[in-house]
Amino acid sequence: MLKTTIAGSLPKPFWLAQPEMLWAPWQQPGEKLAEAKRDATLLWIKEQEQAGLDIVGDGEQSRQHFVHGFLERIEGIDFQNKVKMGIRNNRYEADVPTVVGKLKRKGSVHGTEAKILRAATGLRTKFTLPGPMTIVDTIADQHYGDRVKMAFAFAELLNQEARELQAIGIDVVQFDEPAFNVYMDQVREWGIDALHKCIEGLTCTTAVHICYGYGIKANNDWKQTLGGEWRQYQDTFPHLARSRIDQISLECANSKVPIDLIGLLKGKDVLVGCIDVASDQVESKEQVAATIRKAMEFVDPEKLYPCTNCGMAPMRRDIARAKLHALEQGAHLVREELRK
Ligand code: ZN
Repeated sequence: MLKTTIAGSLPKPFWLAQPEMLWAPWQQPGEKLAEAKRDATLLWIKEQEQAGLDIVGDGEQSRQHFVHGFLERIEGIDFQNKVKMGIRNNRYEADVPTVVGKLKRKGSVHGTEAKILRAATGLRTKFTLPGPMTIVDTIADQHYGDRVKMAFAFAELLNQEARELQAIGIDVVQFDEPAFNVYMDQVREWGIDALHKCIEGLTCTTAVHICYGYGIKANNDWKQTLGGEWRQYQDTFPHLARSRIDQISLECANSKVPIDLIGLLKGKDVLVGCIDVASDQVESKEQVAATIRKAMEFVDPEKLYPCTNCGMAPMRRDIARAKLHALEQGAHLVREELRK
């Protein structure tokens, strides 16, 4: 019980990509890049094992960004002429590629790193993919003329990729949907259906991650506008509780999310964020344990997975490592209490 895991990304070493930034440029050319990605992936698997985590990932070392990493291997997208677009309801601007034709996978997107992960550890493994609503919020369109239609086209490709990850032996496939905290009406109207398309035919564990974003300035400023209580989850959780998704990963540590909202996820596994990715302050094990105990008022410990609030990509590497250790130590404290 109280198995520990991460939301997804981890910082890249300086020799792989420029540290402490999103969309960081790669530091190696051509064939050296593939080797550096592999080395960084192995390094983070080892770090997660050493921290004592139960379910480990590749730390997204092989992708520049959690959305564009997937898009780079899809046919029908023009990456040459990026356009500036307001994303997450104009929270910030990003240079995004454009869909210019019918979407198709050029082949396996993440198979290489999934195989490295599977071969490198005996632990349970988790692999993350961007969710369809978040993808269509991070790309321009000159072909489909309809965001929902385009989202379902992506969902079909995500499903193909997820089936491949499952065949490689990945235990948990997670779809990242930060957009679910922005477009709550659309979650109800088509977001859950699009996720169901993504998981069609899967027998592995499935998860969705919904957060308030990386610890970058635009997100931190946005959080200041959300008031004393963040109630975005209140709209989406009842729909997710009725969905066929197994696990929900959410932000909790240092957030203004009222903890009782996780009671709306009855029957689901809950990955509760016990690590703040927007702060360089490393949590004490007591702080992590306190978050877990609060969550246990609403979720059975068998269904509760202590996790990070979000990805750690833009953080300092030593801080991220210390936070992974704090996560496991806090979970250990509570497990010991439960055994008494
Ligand atoms: Zn996140």
